[in-house]
Amino acid sequence: MAIKIKTQEEVELIRKSCQVLSAALAEVIKAAKAGTNGLALDKLADEFIKDCGGKPSFKGYHGFPNALCISMNDEVVHGIPTGVEFKDGDIISLDCGVFMNGYHGDMAYTIGIGNVKPETLQLMRVTKESLLLGIEFATAGRRTGDIGFAIQDFCERKNPYKCVRELVGHGVGKSLHEDPQVPNYGRKGDGAKLPENCVIAIEPMVNLGKREVYTKKDNWTIGTQDGTPSAHFEHTVLVKPVKAEILTSFTAIEKAVQENPELVKI
Ligand code: MG
Ligand code: MG
Repeated sequence: MAIKIKTQEEVELIRKSCQVLSAALAEVIKAAKAGTNGLALDKLADEFIKDCGGKPSFKGYHGFPNALCISMNDEVVHGIPTGVEFKDGDIISLDCGVFMNGYHGDMAYTIGIGNVKPETLQLMRVTKESLLLGIEFATAGRRTGDIGFAIQDFCERKNPYKCVRELVGHGVGKSLHEDPQVPNYGRKGDGAKLPENCVIAIEPMVNLGKREVYTKKDNWTIGTQDGTPSAHFEHTVLVKPVKAEILTSFTAIEKAVQENPELVKI
């Protein structure tokens, strides 16, 4: 399949989905605290997105039951929200998508409740930083391997972590997952060449321990095999010649983290 190049009109529709999505995750993060749970946050996200005229992209996607993926601690991605209460020291990846006017947006952010272990906090910081480093290579004419190399180099060579290989970033548009695949590892110059005005989601999933993962009994949740924590950050970006444009935004999310006394500051 070819990588789809978006028209300016399509970009504006994806941008709108990404704006609603960024606001939805900020709302969720305002309510995150010890004692609440994934189902409560999922309900907030679901209602917020619908109130804005959108649909949660994940709900019903291959049968996924919810608007949010909630992946806690050793869970990497694709966690199904449950009634299990959040507790002090938990880290929680919040992954969400919005479908509006025929186009998706996709993003993820990892938060920590209360007293997160310093080593886990550092994993969160490095994972987020690796996303921003990867985005620097999301320019026209570069290849997906350039992005993967930048992420892996920072996480695995400059830091002691491991990038998950089984799950990857992806094109975003009329479908939630389009070509190309955007791995979080790789070699410079390998992989698909990125055309100007393609839209991709970059989403490093980074483990504190070993890189191996497995699927849990619910057939959805991906966990680390060694049980160590995993962090996940994701932006939807527009590939441009000099600098990618980030269509999702962490601004309101990070304000919500700063203003929520229950959450650790990354
Ligand atoms: Mg994604
Ligand atoms: Mg996502």
